[in-house]
Amino acid sequence: MIVFGPVPSRRLGQSLGINNIPPKTCSYSCVYCQIGRTNHMKAKRCEFYKPEDIYAQTAQRVNELGKGRVDYLSFVPDGEPTLDINLGRHINLLKPLGIKIAVITNASLLWMDDAKEDLLKSDWVSVKIDAVNHDVWKKIDRPQGSLALNKVLQGATDFAQRFEGELVTETMLVNGVNDDETHLAQIANRIKHINPAKAYILVPTRPPAETGVFKPSAKALAHAYEIFCEKGIKTECVLGEEEDSFYFSDDIVRDLLSISSVHPVREDVILKLLEERNIDRSVIKQMADKKLIDSYIYEGKRFYKRNI
Ligand code: SF4
Repeated sequence: MIVFGPVPSRRLGQSLGINNIPPKTCSYSCVYCQIGRTNHMKAKRCEFYKPEDIYAQTAQRVNELGKGRVDYLSFVPDGEPTLDINLGRHINLLKPLGIKIAVITNASLLWMDDAKEDLLKSDWVSVKIDAVNHDVWKKIDRPQGSLALNKVLQGATDFAQRFEGELVTETMLVNGVNDDETHLAQIANRIKHINPAKAYILVPTRPPAETGVFKPSAKALAHAYEIFCEKGIKTECVLGEEEDSFYFSDDIVRDLLSISSVHPVREDVILKLLEERNIDRSVIKQMADKKLIDSYIYEGKRFYKRNI
């Protein structure tokens, strides 16, 4: 499914997701990835879906939802959105819909001029800065072999200098991997240099690609926040669980499949929605029996994810 949601987002309001990358194609295979391990590792841009198809499906969904229901059209796919060589064309086509465009990127291709030019067309961009140390980067983001961290970080800095929209950074902290004080100070220095409108510190809250991936302790998190703030970076920690205001149409199976393909959904959130709509909860079991969705327990809570 190319278009999913809208999904409530703390940072983007009601965000209509655009899935411009087939599962799961990425230049990284982050240990905490909620989509699972990367099985198509790439660092070369190529064509995936036709811009006309992406436009048609997005415009149709925007029309179905009606005016004012979507705050952002967000490229937040089953992989890295800048791998799509047509990203700039998609954005050009979508602009006339009059809704702001957001892209959440791992920044790994920002050293490429064409990827940078494509992203410059958007209104809001989030770049991932999980590590500034080569060994830590390899451990947490597990990049494609041809990528070089210094080029990636320089690309993000160069992009930041030219971008006229709202730029934010996101740093996912994983216990014992990238949350020690020295490394956090180095990350903060780099982010200071990039000068984002805001730096978000995130922690894994949904089932990660690998077992043994945990949130940092509350103390380590508070310390990370302090380190960032001391550098004068406007910082926010996103520690919370997902909100429970997903938009579901009458076709609950379609909606659940589309949202859970990129965004594992907590069981209690789904049950609440089903109850509100007087839909029998057996629909979840039927989807699981048909192997359309898988369930996972993470930190004591059950989540459902599309089986891709
Ligand atoms: S978290 Fe993002 S960058 Fe990392 S593997 Fe998943 S899709 Fe790729």
